[in-house]
Parts: sequence; C-alpha cells; structure tokens
Amino acid sequence: MPLDPMPESSAVLEVVLEDAPTCVCGHVRDAHEHYRPGTDCALCDCPRFRKKR
Ligand SMILES: [Zn+2]
Ligand SMILES: [Zn+2]
Repeated sequence: MPLDPMPESSAVLEVVLEDAPTCVCGHVRDAHEHYRPGTDCALCDCPRFRKKR
C-alpha cells in the first residue's frame, strides 16, 4: 500500500476527488464495481452508483 509522499498535497487530492466519478452516497465508482454481482456500494447501503451532478 503506497503512502502519499506529500501529505500537504490536499489541494491535488481535492481535484482528484472532484474529477473522479463520485456517487451520491459519497463513494467512488470503485466501491460500486466489485467482485460481487450487482452495483450496490461496498461501503454503505447505497443500492447503485448514481453520479453526482
Ligand atoms: Zn453509491
Ligand atoms: Zn456508498
């Protein structure tokens, strides 16, 4: 698991999060695309991926 070498790169992280497809539940699409069948979120009870805006 690679550690972030620059902890002060929060601005970059913000951009990345904004650019990444995020569900209305607040989790990225990765959480909805897992080895289990279906598109439910792996981190919460969100039933399916719904992109914000
Ligand atoms: Zn979701
Ligand atoms: Zn979720």
